[in-house]
Amino acid sequence: MTVEDPDFNKFQRKLIRADAYRETCVLPECSEPTSAASLQGINKRFCRKHYEHYQRHGSPYRGSYKAAELQSARKAARAWLRSNRDSQGVLAALERIRILYRSAGPHVPAYRLKGMLPKERARKAWARLRDAQVAPEKILLAWLSVNEAIRTDTNADTKPEFRRVQAAKLVHRLASGTHKRWERERADGSKHVERLDVYPRSRGRILRVLGEDIERAMEPLGLD
Ligand SMILES: [Zn+2]
Repeated sequence: MTVEDPDFNKFQRKLIRADAYRETCVLPECSEPTSAASLQGINKRFCRKHYEHYQRHGSPYRGSYKAAELQSARKAARAWLRSNRDSQGVLAALERIRILYRSAGPHVPAYRLKGMLPKERARKAWARLRDAQVAPEKILLAWLSVNEAIRTDTNADTKPEFRRVQAAKLVHRLASGTHKRWERERADGSKHVERLDVYPRSRGRILRVLGEDIERAMEPLGLD
């Protein structure tokens, strides 16, 4: 794709030229051109590499927390929940999760999610969690763990988006994809088992929308 691409009209070309060649990636240690400048995309803040990182992890530089990194945060989260289980805040947050479950509509198999808007895909993630009977406490623990991990991480990205995306990734993983298997007959009459395993993609807009859902549900906890 270049600026002379016939798909762009005159106005779009002008816009692209105005943005292009102007900036390098906003990360201080990176001197790559922004993807707008290099005409690889329309993003104006990050180079291609950091933009992809940001899409996937919710931060252009901080990677997602690994299970081992979250271990002590999870422990702290469980302890907090044990001593606050009956508080108004916890009860209200759990009820908000149940409302998300109830209003998520019917389950849609993972292989039919293609082409759906992020908002609708996020709703279907709640339907999957509900049908997989994931306890609302697990959503709460995911949020608490991510909050604790960020609080104790000296290299954390403290922007709300990183927190939302990290929580959404943990929650998304709790309801795994669609798995089907069925027996087929070959032409020679012998049988074999076919399987279909589809995992919904966990990146981009859907993580932001799911993260916002979680954040709103957790408001009654009154954390920071
Ligand atoms: Zn960069």
